[in-house]
Amino acid sequence: MVTRAMRRRSAKLEVHAKYSAIGSDYTMEKNEATVYVQASFDYSHFLPEHDRCFPLHGHTSLARMEVCGSIGAGGMVIDFGDAKRVLSEVLSAFDHKLVTNRRYCKAEGGRIIVSHGDYAFALPADQVCILDGEGTCENINDALLGLLVARMPDNATSVSLEISEGANKGSRRTRRLRSPRWAEL
Ligand SMILES: [Zn+2]
Repeated sequence: MVTRAMRRRSAKLEVHAKYSAIGSDYTMEKNEATVYVQASFDYSHFLPEHDRCFPLHGHTSLARMEVCGSIGAGGMVIDFGDAKRVLSEVLSAFDHKLVTNRRYCKAEGGRIIVSHGDYAFALPADQVCILDGEGTCENINDALLGLLVARMPDNATSVSLEISEGANKGSRRTRRLRSPRWAEL
């Protein structure tokens, strides 16, 4: 006897098979797409534990945000203008600032004293981005991505952010925002 649960399981397996045939890119669905926008920002950091990156230095970073989701009635996943505004807003939180680990920072009279080894900087609080880890490309990416997630439209299923560190290197991180369709069967 074929029970309802068995039918549902069978339907799930069929859809699983379909998606595994096309890989993990859900944008293959007819009404879904991935759109992207790019913007740049500058930041400074120092990585005390790293052989080469321990001195204070800066990078210009190209950021590319990709939003995957269903295409709405207007024929868009997200308006490019809205996407650019969201990305620029988030990048402005880090733009032209020192990004560093919380463990090197101490608040003192409206300023942040950043110190490690022979270094000691006193900076206005709004010119320092404090992370829970080192100011690496990966950690900066994660912090930016967290800010983007909160600004995504309801139809978005995932958001990715790629940021470069200088010209030839960088990182990419992705957050899934909604369950894939097959999980809802
Ligand atoms: Zn660097």
